[in-house]
Amino acid sequence: MKEAYDIVVVGAGPAGSNSARYAASAGVSVLMLEKDRDVGYPVRCGEAVSHEGLIQFIEPDSKFIGSTITKFRLVSPDGKSVVPRLDGKGYVLERRIFDYELAKIAAKEGAEVVTKAYAYDLLRNEKGEAVGVRALIKDQETEIRSKVVIAADGVESRVGKWAGIDTTCHIKDMESCAQVTLSGIEVEDDTLDFYFGDNVAPGGYLWVFPKGKDTANVGLGISVEAAKKKSAIKFLEKFVEKKFPNAAVLTRIAGGVPCAKTSATVVKNNVMLVGDAARQVNPTSGAGIISGMIGGMIAGQVAAEAVKMNKLSHLTEYEKRWHKRLGWRHEVFYKIREAVNSFSDDTFNSIAESAQKLPENKRTLGGIFRAALWNRPSMLLEVARVFVS
Ligand SMILES: Cc1cc2nc3c(=O)[nH]c(=O)nc-3n(C[C@H](O)[C@H](O)[C@H](O)COP(=O)(O)OP(=O)(O)OC[C@H]3O[C@@H](n4cnc5c(N)ncnc54)[C@H](O)[C@@H]3O)c2cc1C
Repeated sequence: MKEAYDIVVVGAGPAGSNSARYAASAGVSVLMLEKDRDVGYPVRCGEAVSHEGLIQFIEPDSKFIGSTITKFRLVSPDGKSVVPRLDGKGYVLERRIFDYELAKIAAKEGAEVVTKAYAYDLLRNEKGEAVGVRALIKDQETEIRSKVVIAADGVESRVGKWAGIDTTCHIKDMESCAQVTLSGIEVEDDTLDFYFGDNVAPGGYLWVFPKGKDTANVGLGISVEAAKKKSAIKFLEKFVEKKFPNAAVLTRIAGGVPCAKTSATVVKNNVMLVGDAARQVNPTSGAGIISGMIGGMIAGQVAAEAVKMNKLSHLTEYEKRWHKRLGWRHEVFYKIREAVNSFSDDTFNSIAESAQKLPENKRTLGGIFRAALWNRPSMLLEVARVFVS
């Protein structure tokens, strides 16, 4: 390890590895620090991604794919199930291996990767701008100088705060999640299941994501406000007891997903936020792997350009490019989330009923929504109210 790099990336999740990869491939020097002993572990994720999202960055490979998905099923509170037409396909990953592969690609492009390396503060110049990080590397206090610091340190990000960025996520936008990986169960290995309703996952949804025919990630995200003090774990235990009473529990995790708009500030004092740290998760679905990778790619590219031009004011270009690529869409998805969260169980039930009557070729997500609005015009008002507010 050297004493100085052009760019230091804090965190080796998908967003961090992509930042490091694209910055290094542009020819600048990059160091990526990961606090855990192993890249990719522990996994705190349902691990579902779309094929279209994935192939932007890496070819699907059986070594990091648990299941290939060709269907998804929506289950309403009264138990009606609808299988919308899915034009593309998707995957349930093995993130333990996937994240590791992404870090390997970054290393192949020339980034240095160090694990058991915990960044605990920034180095600052007299103007308060970041000029590197302080880190505990293999238990040794170390100072590493850099021109740019990329904060890819996940949902509990602290690097942004050190740079003076307000990274607070409002409680109403934070989904509280719990997940178990169950084995010894029977699941369709090509289908993602989503369950809705106040008794299952208030203000969110419950998922069953298969990893083969006998194993699945079963988890849920709930709105802390809507759950009325009942924890995500309690909702999950109730579902598992009923649906998979004899399952073996291989892993248990809990964590937050920021279903918010992207942070208002993602660049300050030579620090760039990416991935969950920047709230780049899709607010409707809670999916953040691919969008974090897109954020990481743009940040890595812009940081490398800024270093090569010797013009750090260029870093703000990242904000513009992110907004143009995905940020504006996430603002629309945020409104959709607000609308869906305001649906009662009755609304979900009537959407499912309308959807079941649709001919198969019209049973797309858009088709289902249109049919629901047609059958229940009052819902249009509920949705419109959210969009104009
Ligand atoms: C229960 C659950 C289910 C989910 N399911 C899905 C899903 O099915 N599909 C999907 O697309 N998304 C899902 N998500 C969201 C997805 O996991 C995240 O959006 C994604 O991991 C974000 O990537 P990231 O690189 O920003 O952060 P992370 O993957 O969290 O990586 C951050 C890394 O930074 C490291 N780090 C943190 N602080 C420091 C420090 N100070 N120094 C050094 N290293 C540090 C951490 O150890 C970690 O490795 C889910 C999330 C949860 C909680």
